[in-house]
Amino acid sequence: MANGLRTPESRLKDYPEKFQRCRQRRHQMEEKGRFLLRGASRERYVVIRYECLTCKTMRTDIFDKTAELVERRYEYPAGFLLSYTPEEKEAGARVTSKVIIRQIVADSLRNKSLPEYEE
Ligand SMILES: [Zn+2]
Repeated sequence: MANGLRTPESRLKDYPEKFQRCRQRRHQMEEKGRFLLRGASRERYVVIRYECLTCKTMRTDIFDKTAELVERRYEYPAGFLLSYTPEEKEAGARVTSKVIIRQIVADSLRNKSLPEYEE
């Protein structure tokens, strides 16, 4: 943009495709293990860890004894998270799943060898 803001579309150009896929169609989480977590006053929690098959993001879910999800944490691989200047936030210049699917559709329609889908 002329005012120095990067457009979401321009940021996509150097954002890894595997991260784009995860943002557009969500992570493909595989369970990596279940653990017991003991709280300070003897409460017990069940911790389930997942890893995304595509981008290696880790998710940690912590359940109390009634199976209520009490906490969900994500650990993202380097480069997954995008940071924005206050001006970019103000302008709504975020890379959303909508921005990504718009790019995928535009690229697909330009692709002369896109296979025909037959129902
Ligand atoms: Zn992912």
